[in-house]
Formats: sequence, C-alpha cells, structure tokens
Amino acid sequence: MKILLSPPDVGDLEHEYVMAALRSGWVAPAGPDLAAFEQEVAARVGVTHAVGLSSGTAALHLALVSWGVGPGDVVPVSTLTFAATVNAIRYVGATPHFVDCDPETGNMSPALLEQALSELAASGQRVPVVIPVDMLGKCVDYAPIAEVTQAHCALLLADAAESFGATYGGRSAGSFGDASVLSFNGNKIMTTSGGGMLLTDDERLAAHVRKLSTQAREPVAHYEHAEIGFNYRLSNILAALGRGQLTRLDNMIKRRREWRERYRANFSKSLGVRILGGDDDAQDNCWLTAIVVDPLVSGWTATDLGAAMTEVGVETRPIWKPMHLQPISRGLGGTLDGSAETIFAQGLTLPSGSAMTDEQFASVESVIRSVTVS
Ligand SMILES: *Cc1c(COP(=O)(O)O)cnc(C)c1O
Repeated sequence: MKILLSPPDVGDLEHEYVMAALRSGWVAPAGPDLAAFEQEVAARVGVTHAVGLSSGTAALHLALVSWGVGPGDVVPVSTLTFAATVNAIRYVGATPHFVDCDPETGNMSPALLEQALSELAASGQRVPVVIPVDMLGKCVDYAPIAEVTQAHCALLLADAAESFGATYGGRSAGSFGDASVLSFNGNKIMTTSGGGMLLTDDERLAAHVRKLSTQAREPVAHYEHAEIGFNYRLSNILAALGRGQLTRLDNMIKRRREWRERYRANFSKSLGVRILGGDDDAQDNCWLTAIVVDPLVSGWTATDLGAAMTEVGVETRPIWKPMHLQPISRGLGGTLDGSAETIFAQGLTLPSGSAMTDEQFASVESVIRSVTVS
C-alpha cells in the first residue's frame, strides 16, 4: 500500500524530544517526561489526574480492576467498537452486554442503553459500569448517556481512545464519566508508538491505577505486594515522543478536518452516500473519515470503492465489525436494533492521516471519481 489509512505523523520535532529524553538518562518507565506528559494531557483535557500506561487497553483493564469489576458483573458496552474495549471486560471475567448505536454517528444509543439497563435490572443482574466509545473521533451523546447511567447507579468509563482533541458541549473528550481512556497507538490521532492514559478527577482511582500499573508495590523498602499488580506503565522515552506530538495535535486535527471537508465535497453529489457522524463535525477530531453507502441508491457498494482503492495501492478498511457478531462473543447478549450491522455492511473508512500529502489525496480523489461517476 502506498497510501495508508492513518499512519503515524512523526518528524524532526519528535526526534528531538526523544533524543533529549535518552540523553537525560531517564530510560526506565519513570522520569520527568512521563510526569510532564501526564500533566500536559490532564491540563489539555481539563481533568485533575492522568496516568500514563502502555496502551489504551491497559487503561481500560486497570479501571475495571480498580473498581473491582469481575465475574458475575454485566457491563453494557458499544457493540460498534474495536475489540480492545470488550477484551478488557473479558480480562476481569465480567460479561459484556452489547448496546447498539445511533445510525447517524455509530455512537451508543442512549435509548437502547436505557432499555438495556432496565432489562438487566429487572432480571436482577449486577451492572457496575457502562462503557460507551467515541466512534472515530466523535464524542458520544454524553448528557443522556450519563443521566441514564447515573439513574441506574453505575459508573461511566468513557473509551475516548479515538477522540483525543474532540469536544462535546464545549468540554474535551477524555473528561466525561468517572474515568476516561486515551490511546496513543501508532494509528491514533497522536502517538507514542504504543501507549495510553487513564484520565479522572478521582484522586484515589488515579493513585490505585498508578500503583497497579507498576506491579502494585507497597510503599516500603523491600518488595511487598498485597494485591496482584501489572507491568503497564508508559516508558519515559515514549512519553517524550507524546510531548512532541502533543505540541502538534491541533495542527494534526486541522489537517484531518481538511480531508473530511474534501471528502464531503467529493461525495456531495453522490446519492446514497453519507459521512458517518452526520453533517455537524465541528466538535469532532476527524480521526478517520468513513462513508456509509446505500447501494440501492448509489448503484455501487462500499466494497466496490474499497477494491478500486486497493488496485492503486490506497488502503481503506470496513468500519469495525460489531462485537456481537465476533466469534469470541458467541453466546453473549445485547440490546440490538441492526444499526451497527448496517454500518458494518455499508461502511468504509478512508485514508485520513495528517501526514498525507495533497498529491496523495488527489490520487484518492481520482479513484472516488472513477467509481462515483461511472
Ligand atoms: C485503539 C483503541 C483502543 C485500544 O487502544 P490501544 O492503545 O491500542 O490498546 C481501545 N478502544 C478503542 C475504541 C480504540 O480505537
């Protein structure tokens, strides 16, 4: 592939940050860049505590561990998501309950969540936490989601792995719920090559997750362990890379937004084609642009466009296969209305990286023209 979906956008500035961290001697998974990176992300998002971890998956896992979620617990979760969200629930032995989405955005439907919580309560299930996911960089409709979750006395863990830099009602992604999770994986809007973060205003949760991430050592001179720990801390070197990326986050979002607008223009005359997320993306970080194609109206399918792109070395990918359809989810329940399945069947994510050149984008556009005009 010559043009990738969302490759890392890393340059000279990041090289300097990483080299400076190496030269400082702080090569262990602790150090001034890690502490500074946590503070800078917390300040940017508007939360009081941030814990740098080895992945977004680790952040999801440790939030659930810290809250004592385990076997016998049911966790309502977006069905339209990357496997990591659901895997974390399985790590602790709890049972995911898949909740379908708003067909326009792919984000968890507040009405279906309410139905799910009522039905689970009626059947006597224990539901300690709900996990909605900010789909492709658009925040979940947090006002009703939080209201319904609180009404059922559950905690809210916001999976903001895809939405760093987005806002909702003027508040930053990563500041919603009782805790939020960011990912700095290589394909995300900014990267530490691999990394993640737990964000929260709950000081005790942050302290416990930090402890759990470093093998849960008790604060004594010898190695004393009163609970099972993990090796999940973010390295200081990678935090330095993150600090460099963070200075460029707004510019990277701006570039991805440019692609979003150009895609919108390219498909504006194509009947039966819509941009996932709807017309109003002013608050989104535009991490990935995805289209949803109704072939009965358009006369071509998302798969046709994907195949034409592959032929000339342009990477595209179907939108997440709903988790309730995955082999690992056999036997698990959900509150489903078919919306996620339609998005999966008709959707395609398009090259959206901030390092993509105008020339590369022009070749993507010519493939779009060849499929939409014929
Ligand atoms: C990327 C992603 C994760 C996992 O993050 P990692 O840092 O790769 O572990 C979790 N949830 C969602 C929705 C993601 O897109």
